Parts: sequence; C-alpha cells; structure tokens
Amino acid sequence: MSLALQTFPTVKDANAALQASGTRYLGGGTLVVRAANEGDVSVSDLVRVADPDLARIAVSGGKVKLGASVTMAAIARHPELAALAPAARAVGGPAIRNMATVGGNLFAPAPYGDFAVALLALDAAVVTANGEMPIETFLAGRDRSRAIVAAVEFSLPKTESFRFLKVSRVKPKGISVLSIAALLQRSADGTVASASIALGCMADRPMRAKAAENALLGCKLTSEEIAPALAAAGEGITPITDPIASAWYRAEVLPVHLGRLLLS
Ligand SMILES: Cc1cc2nc3c(=O)[nH]c(=O)nc-3n(C[C@H](O)[C@H](O)[C@H](O)COP(=O)(O)OP(=O)(O)OC[C@H]3O[C@@H](n4cnc5c(N)ncnc54)[C@H](O)[C@@H]3O)c2cc1C
Repeated sequence: MSLALQTFPTVKDANAALQASGTRYLGGGTLVVRAANEGDVSVSDLVRVADPDLARIAVSGGKVKLGASVTMAAIARHPELAALAPAARAVGGPAIRNMATVGGNLFAPAPYGDFAVALLALDAAVVTANGEMPIETFLAGRDRSRAIVAAVEFSLPKTESFRFLKVSRVKPKGISVLSIAALLQRSADGTVASASIALGCMADRPMRAKAAENALLGCKLTSEEIAPALAAAGEGITPITDPIASAWYRAEVLPVHLGRLLLS
C-alpha cells in the first residue's frame, strides 16, 4: 500500500489534515515509517510541518524550549544542554539520534521513550495548538491525542541536580531494561528538599515514582537513609515484558539501579 505525504507550513494547517482517519504525523519517522514498512495498514497518510520553529532550541533565563522536531543529536551536542545530553545519547545509535525527535519520543511506547522519562522528571510542559499541559497529563492521555505537539518547555536543571540512567543489555545502544531520571534539590546540610523521579519501562509509558519521591524527602543520600525510598520504588509499577527482560526482572532490578543512581 502506498503512503501519501503532505507538508504544511504551519501546525494549525497540519492539525486540520491530521483529523482524517489513517493520517499520522511524521516526526523523524523512526517508528511510524518503520511500522508502515512492516505492513501497518492503519497508516495511509502522513503529514509534516515545515515551520523552522519546530526545530528550534531556545535557552534563556534558565528556561528551555525544545521544538517538537528537535532531534536527539541536536540536544546531545548543544553546549547549554549538557545536563540533558546523557538522556538524548541514550536513544538508539547515531543514525537513529539524527532522526529521532522530541515529539516522537513523547509517543514512543516502552521500552522506548527514554528522553520522555527525562522530560517527565523535569515536569516539562507540552505545547500544542490547544495550549500547554503538564507532561504527566499529556502522557496519560496520549493515546487519544490528535493534536500535534509543537514544543516542550521546562526549567533548565543544574547538572549536579539532574541524574539520568539507562540500563540496557546490549552496549552501547541497546533498548532499555529500564531508565530512570531524577531531579533532586538538596538543602545546605545535604538532605533532599525536593525529589522528582521518573521511570521508563515500569509501565507502557514513563511514570513518576511518587512513593519513592516522598520517602526521599529529608534524607541524606546515604545507603541507610535511601533504603525506604528504594523499598517504595516499586509502588504502582506494572513493568513491561519483552524479549529483553520480563516484568518480574525489571521490578527486581529497579531498586538496585535507583540506589546506584541516588548514590552516584
Ligand atoms: C533501531 C531503533 C532503536 C531505537 N532505540 C531507541 C532508544 O534507545 N530509546 C528510545 O527512546 N527510543 C528508541 N527508538 C524509538 C524512536 O527512534 C524514538 O523514540 C524517537 O524519539 C521517535 O521519534 P520520531 O521522531 O522518529 O517519531 P516518529 O516515528 O516520527 O513518530 C512516532 C509517533 O509519534 C507521533 N508524533 C511524532 N511527532 C509528533 C508531534 N510533534 N506531534 C504529534 N504526534 C507526533 C507520530 O505520529 C507517531 O505516531 C528506537 C527506534 C529504532 C528504529
């Protein structure tokens, strides 16, 4: 079956075309074109937007705006986004990173979506033509979303307060057993004043580890004090099973890797 591709100058024009059944937005195409090539007949038309704003990275006054078409490679090499580079570099190999976009990563089902895990820990806002919404709300409703994501916005984390870890079996570019992102603010005495922890592969999409976040408050990052947070990390998770790892295995190793990330 042939695929029709239409290019629009603005998100608004493309949004209208996207409402037709069988029509999907084309980001970098690493998932949607692969699916079509593999015989997914639910896709008949692709739409894309040529607006250069979608590929723009803006960093100003401690705020970051990433257009939805910004690629993982562009983030990884941006001098002001060093804190996010490990999450961007975690996505596939160099060829994939040159095409894989921020917008597409928000829709990527587990075990993909490593960059979206980082955005969730940063509590990013997702911008569409209908306005903006917290990423957690966006992810919860993404299967029903028919709106084009234009950008994501968040406060730039300090390198020392943001941590990201992807665990894979095939190095250096295997898909995730799990991924974890943590934004930790600490008081002068070293205790955790606020914690935002996001997990990949612990559900079909990135999720927050809220019980672990709460258990970390007021703790110093020592093995003894983080133990309750590690015990709580599995609360609410429904890990995926795939050829890389079973749900059981992913749940077993989550506290081990969260502990390593917190103590690193
Ligand atoms: C070999 C290989 C390895 C991979 N490894 C990883 C990995 O390690 N980690 C990882 O996270 N991912 C990985 N991926 C998955 C994928 O490359 C990334 O998740 C990527 O970020 C998806 O972005 P894309 O622009 O290519 O999405 P596309 O394929 O263009 O789109 C994916 C979906 O999102 C929708 N979409 C895209 N952009 C928008 C938008 N702006 N607004 C609304 N809807 C949109 C599309 O309609 C489609 O439904 C891998 C893929 C392959 C083929």
